[in-house]
Amino acid sequence: MDCIFCSIIKGEIPSNTVYEDDLIKAFYDIEPQAPKHIIIIPKEHIKSAGDITEENAKYISHIFSKIPQIAEKEGIKDSGFRVITNSGRDGGQTVGHLHFHLLGGRDLGAKIV
Ligand code: AMP
Ligand code: ZN
Repeated sequence: MDCIFCSIIKGEIPSNTVYEDDLIKAFYDIEPQAPKHIIIIPKEHIKSAGDITEENAKYISHIFSKIPQIAEKEGIKDSGFRVITNSGRDGGQTVGHLHFHLLGGRDLGAKIV
């Protein structure tokens, strides 16, 4: 299976790691849309938010339990940040491995779209 984020997990494609453990990995987005733009992924290939189940939901809770720590490390915990996941065609998902964008470091505004 050809998945760029699975290749990053395997170390076949380089990434700038921000946080990593047995279940998840966080690294800098290659095309940052804010001063801080981090991608957080589960180490299991889950296609999108549309594929979260009771069985794989442990990755999601784990990601969200580590977000404060990652945000703190990146210096955006107190100033604030946004967490986004794009799912499927209309959601604008371009990489088919579930990921959360952690964005901060500037005023992101109130609009979601
Ligand atoms: P999405 O459009 O929500 O699927 O987000 C995919 C994100 O992955 C985009 O923000 C890309 O810039 C980012 N991205 C794609 N390839 C890489 C890579 N090799 N390393 C880091 N980020 C990447
Ligand atoms: Zn994958």
